[in-house]
Amino acid sequence: MEIRLDGTHYPLETLGPGRRLGIWFQGCTLACAGCMSRHTWDPAAGAPGTVCEVLALWREALAEGADGLTVSGGEPLQQAAALAELLTGAARLRDEARRHEGSAGPRTPDLLVYTGYEQEELTPERRRALSGADAVITGRFRVAEPTRLLWRGSANQRIEALTPRGAARYAPYLDRESTGRRLQLSGGDGRELRLYGVPLRGELAEMERLLKRGGVAFTERSWRP
Ligand code: SF4
Repeated sequence: MEIRLDGTHYPLETLGPGRRLGIWFQGCTLACAGCMSRHTWDPAAGAPGTVCEVLALWREALAEGADGLTVSGGEPLQQAAALAELLTGAARLRDEARRHEGSAGPRTPDLLVYTGYEQEELTPERRRALSGADAVITGRFRVAEPTRLLWRGSANQRIEALTPRGAARYAPYLDRESTGRRLQLSGGDGRELRLYGVPLRGELAEMERLLKRGGVAFTERSWRP
């Protein structure tokens, strides 16, 4: 099945526990004020691919000992069929790898999805698309509700477990505030710098100031109109 993505990254360490494969869907019509990922809004931008290609990346990440998979965007539920196929396939590969390792293997990797939809907007159809996931982080980004809650951009966003594995994995983090690194940088080829994670209010502007002082200036920013 075809899927349109903004990108992927491994190892991702700022959106969920441990070292994870990150997958960012392309396309979002929710248009939250203050969104840091405006480049993911246009459903025709990003790059076309297939779910099979993404699952091949997941297979590699599992072989390297990934702790989990994080799907974000963009809005993953606006490509619901591709999301469902991706999650089902990722769960199957994870379970096969786990069986192969036996009980001596490391902790089973979890599947986490970010959505801008609120819990009450998760219709039966959207919940079906999420059914392969272990947990979901729900809710629009609300710029007027800053938070230090781990992996969340605004105080309204909720972690909801969808499986017993998700409940066990995320229970320690429901109300935990972040104390360590919230942003991960990647790129640095002189043209494009990618940031992975959830910044605190004012953190992006502060980073811009520091980089400018070091001689690095942005021509475009995904968090500005
Ligand atoms: S914060 Fe997420 S849901 Fe909101 S506009 Fe940006 S990509 Fe869409």
